Amino acid sequence: MSETANPFESLQSQIDEAAAYLDIGDDVIERLKHPERVLETNLTVELDDGSLERFKAFRSQFNGDRGPYKGGIRYHPQVSRDEVKALSGWMTYKTAIVDIPLGGGKGGIIIDPDDYSESELERITRAFAKELTPMIGEDRDIPAPDVNTGQREMNWIKDTYETLENTTEPGVITGKDLNSGGSEGRVEATGRSTVIAAREAFDYLDKDLQGATVAVQGYGNAGWIAAKLIDEMGATVVAASDSSGGIYNPDGFDPVAAKEHKNETGSVVGFHDAEAEITNEDVLTLDVDLLIPAALENAIDGDLAEDVQADVISEAANGPLTPEADAVLADEDVFVVPDILANAGGVTVSYFEWVQNRQRFYWSEERVNEELENIIVDGFDALVEALEANALDNPRTATYVVAIQRVADAYEEAGSFP
Ligand code: NAD
Repeated sequence: MSETANPFESLQSQIDEAAAYLDIGDDVIERLKHPERVLETNLTVELDDGSLERFKAFRSQFNGDRGPYKGGIRYHPQVSRDEVKALSGWMTYKTAIVDIPLGGGKGGIIIDPDDYSESELERITRAFAKELTPMIGEDRDIPAPDVNTGQREMNWIKDTYETLENTTEPGVITGKDLNSGGSEGRVEATGRSTVIAAREAFDYLDKDLQGATVAVQGYGNAGWIAAKLIDEMGATVVAASDSSGGIYNPDGFDPVAAKEHKNETGSVVGFHDAEAEITNEDVLTLDVDLLIPAALENAIDGDLAEDVQADVISEAANGPLTPEADAVLADEDVFVVPDILANAGGVTVSYFEWVQNRQRFYWSEERVNEELENIIVDGFDALVEALEANALDNPRTATYVVAIQRVADAYEEAGSFP
């Protein structure tokens, strides 16, 4: 891993880069670089032994010009105000590039959830939900799971909100499981958009996806589903990694069998069909046609980027390239489909979930996948149009050009109050 870029500064530099190609006033750009508001709250919660502990928590509502704020809530010791602000900004431009009527938000608590019992986590989550209640709602701000949170935490938030508001409102939260109003296709959505975006990039570059070699960094929900689906499209997955290390077989391996091995042993390492065990760094610099980073932020810095040999990168993870890495790869003509488009399947199917909750009418998995396919292809087409119209060499900048324009248009058309 690498130097850590301040994520909020990374977001702002991405916006500045795109702003140079837009006919939008500096005053409006300034608005689009900062959250509208950030809740910072101290939760005082009783632990099982009767003592009290203070937890710092945040919710950033970055931009609501295109619709209710939307974004997850993470529990992690490294959560910070700047990280939450940055993630809420990326959500704003993610919902804009895929053109769904939502804004951007994000929240988090500074906590290592492994250090607390389930009943402590419930009290901590409900204390946060009480703070969130005045600012969330299906037409205001719609949280979802993120790092170290899932269905359980979302149920506690939803129940606290519905109790305090004396209502039933399944659309206040997305990422619910099917029995609680979740959507078909949500689990696979992020990996699915990552490979649809990759397929479109290959098509645009006139490269054949059949037999193309693929390396996947991170074999969790996003990474392993991407590996499975790209294999089904005819590409050959040759390498994968997780936090314990990497595996490599130049002839390819079965991604489903590798996942079964990970389920049984906790890691892809030791998978019988891989010839070699390699480091995480090796996975990122292999001579492959497509690289899918699906682990953490800042996985590739400027130095490592010099050694990347892939022709196309489809970013399943959020922020896997530092700004320096992005510049190096653009110089070397590596086609990077940026996170805000490549991994937008998650928020897109969350949007479908919200639509279904509001209609109280549920779609088939086929319909979900078909609508997702259309949305990601449209997003990619908009990227290409901006890339060509502005003679850009960096697809990320082109994506921000489209997304920022859409948010600015919504703001300017609405006018400002007061
Ligand atoms: P996950 O926890 O299911 O999987 C993460 C994987 O990364 C695990 O296999 C873990 O072992 C691996 N990993 C951790 N450190 C690593 C390292 N140093 N090298 C290689 N592998 C490492 O998480 P996920 O839901 O798959 O999310 C992965 C990324 O995708 C994150 O950046 C997340 O923000 C992003 N993302 C996920 C979704 C979603 O719907 N799941 C949506 C949008 C973005």
